[in-house]
Amino acid sequence: MLLSIVLPAYNEEQNIPNTAKVLAGLLEENSIDYELVFISDGSRDATFEQIQRAAGENPRIRGAEFSRNFGKEAAIFAGLGLAAGDAVVVMDCDLQHPPEVVPEMWKLWRSGAEVVEGIKESRGKESLAHKLSAGLFYRIMSKLIKMDMNASSDFKLLDRKVVDVLLSLPERNTFFRALSFWAGFRREYVSYEVRERQFGESKWSALSLMKYAVTNATSFSTLPLQLVTVMGAVSILFSIVLFIQTFVKYLSGTAVEGFTTVILLILVIGGFLMLSLGIIGHYIARIYEEVKGRPKYIISRMAGDVGRKKDKECETRMEVDAE
Ligand code: UDP
Ligand code: MG
Repeated sequence: MLLSIVLPAYNEEQNIPNTAKVLAGLLEENSIDYELVFISDGSRDATFEQIQRAAGENPRIRGAEFSRNFGKEAAIFAGLGLAAGDAVVVMDCDLQHPPEVVPEMWKLWRSGAEVVEGIKESRGKESLAHKLSAGLFYRIMSKLIKMDMNASSDFKLLDRKVVDVLLSLPERNTFFRALSFWAGFRREYVSYEVRERQFGESKWSALSLMKYAVTNATSFSTLPLQLVTVMGAVSILFSIVLFIQTFVKYLSGTAVEGFTTVILLILVIGGFLMLSLGIIGHYIARIYEEVKGRPKYIISRMAGDVGRKKDKECETRMEVDAE
């Protein structure tokens, strides 16, 4: 029984050696047969060189480098594609997801769980702005996709069956955390405390979090589109009331002073229209991206035992190389 650990890494040169050592030590101690799959997400520092070095020292470590930064979602999916394990754990490579939880997840998996969710007990140290925006994001997301997202994280163990289901999904805009809920299967939970980051800094800015929120909300829910209908209905009701009022005024001969109403109406309706078009435009952009059918990521280099398992997207690239 092989356990794969997928570790997305973006500019984490300081974390790689330590994380590799800690995980290898821990898994050997628990006599779990393992492999570590590091995915460098187009890092601009020596992350990939560190992965190569770690792979040279330990044959159970493999890795890949993206041709540019494709985002954590893409890195997770690339890792799932490369992982050969019967069970796969996805965790951050900054050790904010405590490694001691991994053997616990492994035990639950051995006793029959197909998905083991890591549940955040506390969110760890974060700036107030981050805490507030993350809180808002999860509240909105939980409403939209009808599952409690606040405590969930990308730290989870998936059975091979679940990994194969996720890999078979054709969509480009993925949201790993929600997709693994959506897939179903027998789940168990393990709670953990988010650690503080030892080296480097968080890659999320307020803007990137906002983009993440909008992308994920629209790739997982069509509720915003229905909102457009609701707004339309509200403005129709509003206009009926005004229509009657205007008509009554016209009949009673006091119809001149309607200027404010006209301006307000133009503003309100114009605002609604533009907002609605924006929402629809966003979904069309989503459809456009999906229809183009571009790969989620491009692998430029591999480290370690490459022959072990190649994923589809990487294979096609290698064939092109050979020609
Ligand atoms: N990460 C990534 N690509 C990105 C941003 C982040 O692969 O574009 C990785 C990062 O290296 C880390 C994990 O995702 O392993 C979580 O990122 P980070 O620690 O910056 O987020 P936080 O823990 O602050 O939420
Ligand atoms: Mg982190």
